[in-house]
Amino acid sequence: MKELTVISGKGGTGKTTITAAFAALAQGQVMADGDVDAADLHLILTPRIKKEEEFFGGRAPLMDKDKCDECGICMELCRFEAIRDFIIDPISCEGCGLCMHACPNDAITMEEKFSGHWFISDTRFGPMVHGKLGIAEENSGKLVSLVRQQARLIAEEENKDLIIIDGPPGIGCPVIAAMTGVDLVLAVTEPTLSGIHDLERVLGVAGHFSVPATVCVNKFDINTENTEKIKEYCRERNIEVVGEIPYDPIVTKAMVAGQSITEYDSGVVTDIIKKMWARIETGLGNGFER
Ligand code: SF4
Ligand code: SF4
Repeated sequence: MKELTVISGKGGTGKTTITAAFAALAQGQVMADGDVDAADLHLILTPRIKKEEEFFGGRAPLMDKDKCDECGICMELCRFEAIRDFIIDPISCEGCGLCMHACPNDAITMEEKFSGHWFISDTRFGPMVHGKLGIAEENSGKLVSLVRQQARLIAEEENKDLIIIDGPPGIGCPVIAAMTGVDLVLAVTEPTLSGIHDLERVLGVAGHFSVPATVCVNKFDINTENTEKIKEYCRERNIEVVGEIPYDPIVTKAMVAGQSITEYDSGVVTDIIKKMWARIETGLGNGFER
């Protein structure tokens, strides 16, 4: 079984457009949406939810007022000032558990904390696992790991040999959870200065975890000079640029229509994405260089 993660240094680089197109082109895959903070793959894949489960992403303190004698020790010790007037503020609390250990009356216990939901759905391209973190909830890395684990179980049960993961933006814990141990990372970038900077950071993370990486430059023609810089950067590090996609408003039209670009149109962008997919499929079979 192979796993491909599509990532970008930040949101809005076309990552989901490309992931959705791959979903349409690949046959027999499981989709995993790792963007649990701000998922948008479902806008194109329109999943029909078959199973919904609660996600408990950490522990939170619960104070028993009957046992509390208001000594104030917990308030003094909490580094995050999350306890005021003997009331715990769940937003400020970091779940460290110090208050529980410090309370002389055992008035505080750490309880599992409801943090969101995860789902198994059907899409027109096959099964999809996705999650939704509650507002202001953390631990998205844990939820991404759970989404990936469930996707692997489905792939095993249904004999599917590919998992395509729509990774979260950035380089934080959820991104690491989305890329560790996968067979290939495709980093989608735009040829802007911030895009280049973000690309360097995500490729740095992939390199750190020894995950093979390739690059796609989206809207390459909005700044060909920067595109050349990206290609040079990749050449120096032996990272293959598998696709250069021109700016085309048809991509937005496809999104608005709730379709992947390859379903919506058979023009230049679709053509390039098809070639890119063919290269990635071959590379996944043969192994990209680490
Ligand atoms: S668990 Fe830690 S952060 Fe939360 S209230 Fe207790 S001491 Fe403060
Ligand atoms: S340490 Fe325990 S008893 Fe003291 S204020 Fe906090 S919860 Fe109450």
